[in-house]
This record gives sequence, C-alpha cells and structure tokens, in this order.
Amino acid sequence: MALIVQKYGGTSVGDIDRITNVANKVAKTRKNGHDVLVVVSAMRGETNRLLTLANEIDARHSPRELDVLLSTGEQVTIALLAMALQKIGCPARSYTGGQVHILTDSAHTKARIVDIDAARVRQDLADGQVVVVAGFQGIDESGNITTLGRGGSDTTAVALAAALNADECQIYTDVDGVYTTDPRVVPEARRLDLLTYEEMLEMASLGAKVLQLRSVEFASKYNVPVRVLSSFEEGDGTLITVEDEEMERPVISGVAFNRDEAKLTILGVPDRPGIAFNILGPIADENIEVDMIIQNVAEDSTTDFTFTVHRNDYEKALDRLQRIAKELGAREVIGDKRIVKVSIIGVGMRSHAGVASAMFKALSDEGINIQMISTSEIKISVVVDEKYLELSVRALHNEFNLA
Ligand code: ASP
Ligand code: MG
Repeated sequence: MALIVQKYGGTSVGDIDRITNVANKVAKTRKNGHDVLVVVSAMRGETNRLLTLANEIDARHSPRELDVLLSTGEQVTIALLAMALQKIGCPARSYTGGQVHILTDSAHTKARIVDIDAARVRQDLADGQVVVVAGFQGIDESGNITTLGRGGSDTTAVALAAALNADECQIYTDVDGVYTTDPRVVPEARRLDLLTYEEMLEMASLGAKVLQLRSVEFASKYNVPVRVLSSFEEGDGTLITVEDEEMERPVISGVAFNRDEAKLTILGVPDRPGIAFNILGPIADENIEVDMIIQNVAEDSTTDFTFTVHRNDYEKALDRLQRIAKELGAREVIGDKRIVKVSIIGVGMRSHAGVASAMFKALSDEGINIQMISTSEIKISVVVDEKYLELSVRALHNEFNLA
C-alpha cells in the first residue's frame, strides 16, 4: 500500500462530467489499496474570471483582498469533488489550505509555503478518508488567506507530498507527460519516460509550461518523485526524479525555447571596474530581471555589453539604458525585440564532449545565425532571430535524435 498525492488541474475539473471522471480515477486508486490525498485547481477559466472581476472594481486592487477572492475558485472544486466521491461510495473530506495549516509568508499573490502541519490530514487518511485539499492557497501567521502564484496548485501538491512523505506525487493535466519539445513545433516530439529534477527545472524555466517552477524546486529539495500524467488517457506519463548512477541517460533530453525574450546592447562603454554594476544595478532597481549577459573584451579602452530581458520589460529597459549610456558616456544603445532563446538540455551533457559544437553545426547547416550563447553544466542556450525559432528547434531535435 502506498500513499499517493494526486493533483488535478483546471482543465481536468473543468465541468461536472470531468469532476466525476476525477472522482472515478481517485476511487480506482483507492480500490487498488492506496491512500489518496487529492489537490485540485479551480475549474478551468475561473481564476481568470475572478481576476477580471477584481480589475473591474479597481485595477489597483488590494493584494490581500485579491487572495481572498482568488482562493474561492479552488474552494468550489474541493467541495464538488468531495461530493462526487461520496456519491460513488468513497468517503471523502475537503479542506481549504488554511484548514490543513499550509502556512505561508505574507507575500500576497506570490506567497511561499514555510510549513505544513499534516497531523489532521494523516488522521483522516488513517480513518479511511480521501482527503481533498484546495491547491494554490495557504494562510499566513496572522491568519490571512494567501495564494501561491499562478499554477500554484502544483506546488501545494508537491509540498503536501513532501510533508506526508508520500510515495509519489501525480500531476494530472491535459497532456500525457513531458515531451522532448513542444509537439506543436515538432510533431514527432516524444513523451519522456524519465527526467531528472535538474532537467525538469531547466525545461520549466525555459518555457515548457507543464509544471510551476517552484513545485519542481520543492520536489528536488525534498526528493519527492513527481509523475506528470493525462487525466483523459491511460499511460505512465513522465516520472521526474533524482538522478541515480544506474540511470542510463541520453546526452540530450529535450529542446526548450522561450519566445518572451528581448536583447539590449550598450556600445562603446568605458572599460573600467564597476561598469557591469553601473549598467545592471539601475536595471535591477527597476525590477527588471536580466537573463543572459555578455561583455566583450575591450579593444580600445571601451567595450560592448549585451543582455536579455523579458519582452514585456523591453521598453522600460531600453529607456533606462539610454539614460545610463548618457551618464557613462557610452557611444550608443541598440535593442532587438524579435529574438528567441532556444536551448538543449540534458544531464548526459556532463559526460560528453562535443555537444556544443554539434549544436552549432546543426544551426549553421540551416543558415541560422547565433546572436548569443550561454552554457551551464546541463544546458546550452542560444539566442536567434525569432523567425528561426521553429527551424532551430526542429534542427536540434533532429540533430540529437530525439524523435
Ligand atoms: N487556479 C490557479 C491558476 O489558475 C492555480 C492553479 O491552477 O494551479 O493559476
Ligand atoms: Mg497548471
């Protein structure tokens, strides 16, 4: 007998038929002899609907009240699912995040879980109940309702699985696993059976939107085996777990990409100590997150400095950089919003030479110009013109035999 945490996303609980389908799946897991704790999202579209209502009152609504509002979406689903379970003879009890002591900090709309007191849940499970918990929400020290950021139900599920020392955390969604790349770009993309936490973290941060990034960080920190599966089809999904010695890993596991990128360059800045700080300090002060950074060697006594930001921050960053350029006496500022980042990811890269050159050759064979490169132990990213996104991803998927 195992203890399984199952999480069902908004599409999986999108209407009453689907909630009934979830109840049947949960009941089946229980019939197989397992204890089950279920975490659910709000019904599909509900969180957005609530957000729109708040914005109709005031676009500068209070974050505290927004959390009170948004948390209601999940509260609807837990009650409906518990009823659906009871109807088919499966004892069930639903709880809000606060009721099961999901204690968070007080950062409304993006709170972090700091502690879970799982005693009550354990007791219910021991009594033979299916426990249904509202995802995405918690409570702070003063008893205020908080939410965990969009997609936060994944994190609730993983955190509960960690607190209960569950055997597996199953994330049911509308895709049947994690793919080698987005099948909309490469139809031959393949579902992966196995992925390490590190690889999933890179995939998630690079725009593969299957899991909330924070849930993967949590899973990795507490060693929770996470399985991504479809609510609508049978299958084993993708297991995300710790890398072990025995594991035979391909060199490259996937190709990820991110369209939300923009690039800025400041040309002819004086090359002296403090320059990187003088450029990026004010950018950080504007709350603009910087991703890749490249500084060239100085030829005369000046250098060029390029970095990327989220496309939404481009205008703000450009404006700020122009002022910085004046202050520093730089020659010119240029920028480009039409760029994308494409990355290959794989823990196997650590033990293989020549991966980078194979990547660069595959791109050059397609006539794709690489504008920037960055690497980490298990990832190589390039920035290319957005018009080459699909071509790059396909070429790399092909090069590393991912189909
Ligand atoms: N309902 C929340 C959202 O739409 C949380 C979640 O679904 O994970 O972001
Ligand atoms: Mg989600």
